[in-house]
Amino acid sequence: MLEKGERQAEEFARKVMSGIESNKKFTWPKIGLLALFLHYSFKHYGVYHLWRLFKVSAKCSSCGFCSKICPTKSIIMNDGKPSWSSKCEQCMRCINYCPEKAIEQLEFIGKGSRRERYYEPHFNPVK
Ligand code: SF4
Ligand code: SF4
Repeated sequence: MLEKGERQAEEFARKVMSGIESNKKFTWPKIGLLALFLHYSFKHYGVYHLWRLFKVSAKCSSCGFCSKICPTKSIIMNDGKPSWSSKCEQCMRCINYCPEKAIEQLEFIGKGSRRERYYEPHFNPVK
């Protein structure tokens, strides 16, 4: 899966660098109305409000790593626990790289604690 992803990323980067502005494979009829709805909901509403759903569990060790690696500096440590702000871009780096798996976002639908975390093996978020 990673090898396929790297090939696709290289191809996408090559198109961007050569000035191609759109990916012709990603056409509106194919993605359907549901995807269109989700796309606009996220773009115009979700990205500004989903940060409110972040929760930290008792497993948090107060290491501050999530605050350090957040690319938008959206996480502030308050009394040793992270709190999120509206600068969040929903990249999910904090959830996936928390060493204690203490961060959840969709607990209210009962799936948060069962979700796997994704680590890109060649990426170091501290750099
Ligand atoms: S990275 Fe995880 S354990 Fe460390 S402060 Fe953030 S939530 Fe807590
Ligand atoms: S999802 Fe990304 S941008 Fe949002 S708080 Fe976590 S690391 Fe920062």
